Amino acid sequence: MERTTCVVAGGGPAGMVLGLLLARAGIDVTVLEKHGDFLRDFRGDTVHPSTLRLLDDLGLGEQFARLPNSHVDRVEFPAPDGGSVIISDFRMLPGRHKYVAMVPQWDLLDLLAAAGKAEPSFHLVMNTEVTGTVVENGRVVGVTYSGPDGPGELRADLTVAADGRWSVLRQAANLVPREYPVPIDTWWFRLPRDVNWEGPGLNGRFSDRQFAIAINRTEYFQIALLIPKGSDASLRAAGLERFRAGITALFPELADVVDTVQDMDDVKFLDVRLDKLPQWYVDGLLCIGDAAHAMSPVGGVGINLAIQDAVATARLLAGPLRQHRVRVADLAKVQRRRRVPTVMVQALQRLLHGAVLMPTLEGRRSTMPMAPIVLLRRLPALRVVPAYLIGIGLRPERAPAFARRVSG
Ligand SMILES: Cc1cc2nc3c(=O)[nH]c(=O)nc-3n(C[C@H](O)[C@H](O)[C@H](O)COP(=O)(O)OP(=O)(O)OC[C@H]3O[C@@H](n4cnc5c(N)ncnc54)[C@H](O)[C@@H]3O)c2cc1C
Repeated sequence: MERTTCVVAGGGPAGMVLGLLLARAGIDVTVLEKHGDFLRDFRGDTVHPSTLRLLDDLGLGEQFARLPNSHVDRVEFPAPDGGSVIISDFRMLPGRHKYVAMVPQWDLLDLLAAAGKAEPSFHLVMNTEVTGTVVENGRVVGVTYSGPDGPGELRADLTVAADGRWSVLRQAANLVPREYPVPIDTWWFRLPRDVNWEGPGLNGRFSDRQFAIAINRTEYFQIALLIPKGSDASLRAAGLERFRAGITALFPELADVVDTVQDMDDVKFLDVRLDKLPQWYVDGLLCIGDAAHAMSPVGGVGINLAIQDAVATARLLAGPLRQHRVRVADLAKVQRRRRVPTVMVQALQRLLHGAVLMPTLEGRRSTMPMAPIVLLRRLPALRVVPAYLIGIGLRPERAPAFARRVSG
């Protein structure tokens, strides 16, 4: 492993989609992933309608549908008047897929890896951590890595940083993100479904200084509990009983199963970050996905954006890569294409952090604000707006012709 046309650091959603698409363009592509498998829990398991359409275009729709998955067709919140309100209705979306599919992320990544392996120019190298860039005459010409056989160097016409929000490559390239203050961190955990509560696909709840979402995963509930930024250690120290009481207050329906959380180690911590690079590239290197813009879990859109970045990158750079001549201007085109959706989604996330989450965690609010509830009840057609923003997003990307396959 000494030379490839495009080296991709990171086999997450962005890196795997980019690897597959470029390989289908006949480009030699090598994805380096530091872990030995894709089995990491709670990495975000939402597959949005725009990604489902992409999978159809790639001929992977039927295989994907066979994976264990549940569907979220609407997002519903309790209202202060005792009723509830649907704030986002995916059933109103255009197209075949009128839901968000909930699929373990490792299943999606395994599917992409298997599809990649069918392409002769696709190489996925696991257990291999990218450690830095190789620079010649001011241009990034590859990466250094540490693999099972020790350290090495892989040269490439283009290096793509898809190594997530702690990107080693963006740091090596001196690309410094602009950080936005975030008031929340997240705890994730599971509760069994053997309770007398159907629980719709996705259920948001407020209680005193708490906000949580329960996702019905058919075999269990996956619960995201928002906690004030920086409070992980003190809340853990407060103990299991206090945690269980808080969850029972939010979800009385789950009171009987809350003690299945036996240890605070069963509760995973997500350090929420929101940032974006002012410039996503330097000569020879491009950042995409969370490496270019770390997303808050609000709206569950990070995976979708990362995948859309990858599709745009493949479409815009396949030509230059075939000619082994990728200029800075080509990299700038990717950022130009993807900047607006990123900026808009992050602006919306910041708005929701400030207007809904902060007041809840500070005890200034314990229900949804009434104004949007009244509006959404009077004009139910408006429920398509958040559904569209979450499920399809601004500037959705279609698979380039070279990557399309008939489903099978
Ligand atoms: C706990 C949690 C829950 C989330 N929930 C959701 C959700 O429900 N819906 C949603 O849309 N988004 C969610 N997100 C955000 C979402 O996971 C990210 O926005 C999305 O995964 C970004 O994809 P990516 O491919 O850019 O990066 P990542 O998914 O972070 O993938 C990066 C990959 O690079 C690898 N890597 C890192 N460093 C190196 C290195 N030096 N060398 C080689 N490999 C490396 C990592 O192992 C990883 O496989 C969640 C994030 C977390 C952490």
